[in-house]
Amino acid sequence: MNASNNPASRSYDLVVVGSGIVGLGAAYAAVRRGLHVCVIEQGTRPTGSSIRNFGHLCIGAQAGEARELAEAGRDTWLRLSRDAGFWLRESGTLIAARHDDELALVSAAAAGGGIEVYGADEFAALAPVDRRVIVGGARVLGDLQANPRTAAEKIVAHLSTLGVAFMWRTSATSVATDVVHTTRGAVRADQVILAVNHDIDRLLPDIAEEARVQRCVLDMMRVQMPLSAPLDAPLLTGWSLLRYGRFESLAEVEPVRERLHAARPDLAAIDLNQMYTQLPDGSVIVGDTHHRDPAPLPFQSEDAQQALIDEALELFGVQSLRVIERWQGVYASGSGEFLDREVVPGVRAIAATTGIGMTCGFGLAQRAVDAAFGAAFGAGAATPATSVVAAAPAAEANGALLGATQELTPAQRSKENTE
Ligand SMILES: Cc1cc2nc3c(=O)[nH]c(=O)nc-3n(C[C@H](O)[C@H](O)[C@H](O)COP(=O)(O)OP(=O)(O)OC[C@H]3O[C@@H](n4cnc5c(N)ncnc54)[C@H](O)[C@@H]3O)c2cc1C
Repeated sequence: MNASNNPASRSYDLVVVGSGIVGLGAAYAAVRRGLHVCVIEQGTRPTGSSIRNFGHLCIGAQAGEARELAEAGRDTWLRLSRDAGFWLRESGTLIAARHDDELALVSAAAAGGGIEVYGADEFAALAPVDRRVIVGGARVLGDLQANPRTAAEKIVAHLSTLGVAFMWRTSATSVATDVVHTTRGAVRADQVILAVNHDIDRLLPDIAEEARVQRCVLDMMRVQMPLSAPLDAPLLTGWSLLRYGRFESLAEVEPVRERLHAARPDLAAIDLNQMYTQLPDGSVIVGDTHHRDPAPLPFQSEDAQQALIDEALELFGVQSLRVIERWQGVYASGSGEFLDREVVPGVRAIAATTGIGMTCGFGLAQRAVDAAFGAAFGAGAATPATSVVAAAPAAEANGALLGATQELTPAQRSKENTE
């Protein structure tokens, strides 16, 4: 590292492009190893998918690789919530079953453990839904809920205190081994992680095409409604069961899909995932619709928004609600659940290519850092977050280049790196 105060004129062990949850997760995993890290972000703060979602860390509904990554990221969420100081709760996930086939599906999934199934009266005591519209329900244990509106900014502030440099309002324009070219000049790095979500098609169009990455746009809203009791966990419905790996893989899912699609082709056409999370201020995030296109148009259908409202009124048994905000979310959608590829030596592109990046992003980022610097996935990051210098021997043993970061305390590095 040279003495300049301009982050672009330095060289780093790791440059991360993108300050969403995936990029921040990579920066965090690297700084915990004692590495010298810079995050490059085109905006002035995180405003991508990572702040537009439900904040649902939906671990127990995943399967396969997604489950492994979700489990790997769980402790990181808990630790960062404590150390960076943002709202998160160990809520589990509630699932309202409005039909016997939905109850049969959650019961089949519960055989694998970690899911409790309830009758209608029991479930109505757990969730403020209209007792008349449910036949039962379930709670997925171990899931978490974060406030997506505050988490990323708090993590940025925390990483800054750990010595991570941030280059805001700086776009990466191209990347090669050892270097990221940006709108503020070239930034040198031993390793680069691209965590730009769907914008991977602007940096690496061939890779994006190969992975069939396109944009999935979602209608979302935040509402005030007179619930009969607080909603103390994310709430899923039968529509949600059609899309999460753990349920989707079971034979019992087919009757649910067939019935819902036959009964409500209008909702199937907007690819509804009817779900809700309540924020600490009592307002409720309501979602969501899905439409995939490489270059989606920004126009949001009022019919789709009205459908979200109507479904919420019916499920919660309330007469009216007030929409406080509406927004369009966007995430990468691809042929698999994840993109994780070394595109040239020392440059990895990572993304969740379905809507589970909050849940799996920290695990994905940790795995990428382990692949870049060595160490088995799941075995890294054993050092305390406040002691980045103490992580140096482990990083050295793995062949990482620590450079001047070894000689600096986190506070010194933070001061050095502040733009
Ligand atoms: C409406 C909605 C609801 C969702 N709900 C959930 C949920 O409840 N649970 C869950 O697990 N997942 C959910 N997801 C998915 C999840 O939010 C995303 O998968 C995750 O946030 C992706 O994180 P990211 O860091 O890859 O992307 P982003 O948060 O989008 O960050 C990417 C960053 O890269 C920056 N960038 C792009 N190109 C460049 C460049 N060339 N140079 C510099 N910077 C660049 C962008 O400005 C952006 O800040 C939801 C998504 C949406 C949209």
